[in-house]
Amino acid sequence: MKNISLLGATGSIGKSTLSVVDQHPDKFNLFALSANTNWQAMLELCRQYQPTYAVMTNEAAAEKLQAALNNGTQVLSGEQALCDIAAHQQTDYVMAAIVGAAGMASALAAARAGKRIMLANKESLVLAGDIFMDAVKNSGAELIPVDSEHSAIFQCLQGGRSGLNKIQLTASGGPFLHTPLSELQSITPDEACAHPNWSMGRKISVDSATMMNKGLEVIEAYYLFGLKPEQIDVVMHPQSIIHSSVYFNDGSTLSQLGNPDMRSVISYAMAYPQRILSGVAPLDLASNSPLEFYTPDLEKFACLRLAFEALKQGGNAMGTINAANEIAVDAFLKQTISFLDIPRVIEQTLTQTKHLALNSLDAIIANDQETRDLASQIVAKHA
Ligand code: NAD
Ligand code: MG
Repeated sequence: MKNISLLGATGSIGKSTLSVVDQHPDKFNLFALSANTNWQAMLELCRQYQPTYAVMTNEAAAEKLQAALNNGTQVLSGEQALCDIAAHQQTDYVMAAIVGAAGMASALAAARAGKRIMLANKESLVLAGDIFMDAVKNSGAELIPVDSEHSAIFQCLQGGRSGLNKIQLTASGGPFLHTPLSELQSITPDEACAHPNWSMGRKISVDSATMMNKGLEVIEAYYLFGLKPEQIDVVMHPQSIIHSSVYFNDGSTLSQLGNPDMRSVISYAMAYPQRILSGVAPLDLASNSPLEFYTPDLEKFACLRLAFEALKQGGNAMGTINAANEIAVDAFLKQTISFLDIPRVIEQTLTQTKHLALNSLDAIIANDQETRDLASQIVAKHA
């Protein structure tokens, strides 16, 4: 029996994780659950799963949950509590599924404590990739990607890396793959969140529509697999059936395929190196045919270009585009700026930020905060 601390239990990845746990009550126990503010949803989860700990990042929400709960679950609040349960002696596996930079500290705590980290929070690697990977190495933690592309590559590399030339992330292109640039100006948040293949939280859905998600994933892959930027390639594949590919020097390419449902990825991370039932239907290739592939249009999807530029610049550039993106997406979801303003805000923030090497977590957090302030000022000019 493995004790799981599920950080971000009320989100999309959280829900899919609970669905896999439901199918294997003999293998997994939910030791701790976390959420931000939604104490009512957490109350339901606590009644159903009776975790040892429930963490609400928001203090007022924690008080409400505590008042409503009358079972043995202990309610904690604040960021430090997230780190504490991630590193708790009784935690075996940590599902890091908080969205955005808010998920970094707890994912890092799990890495430092030598846990199995099932990493959905790609922002941790974008912000603090070197520190994170060093922590994994030094503590002996097991890092298993919970992102469909990176899980695909991880699976394709199980036979070893001999002759590895490059990896190729597939990108669906989101809802606007075939929409001309001239029509993107008037896109609404609901249109941007209507992903054709995947059902996800709103921030990552907007990131998929701008392709910043793929940009963050290129950086995520760079750290996870220790490659050079030029060994990471992106191809558009609107059906989301091939989840990513690995190219070898003998002309062979390995790909991992499946229906677009994160439960395959999550169950793989939970059972690795075994495979267990996930509830995902077997793939029917004939009914998904034809599979299409295109080269990405970097003018239309400027966020992807900016992410490649940030990776090449190194230092604080990756954290800068991540923070600017979070501010810009939030402003877009609140209808303060337009869809096409998102890459403009990111590019202007990157251009106006001094290029620095960041060697400590404090410096990374300071850069994140300063970038948020600058990006907010730039958003105000576009509003
Ligand atoms: P979501 O918005 O559905 O859920 C986010 C979770 O994080 C919720 O439980 C919420 O309570 C919690 N949260 C939000 N803000 C917080 C804060 N400030 N402090 C503490 N907790 C907070 O998001 P999601 O779609 O489940 O995505 C979660 C992460 O997984 C993201 O990093 C995303 O990029 C990654 N991911 C998601 C998918 C997917 O299919 N949804 C696929 C690959 C990777
Ligand atoms: Mg992905």
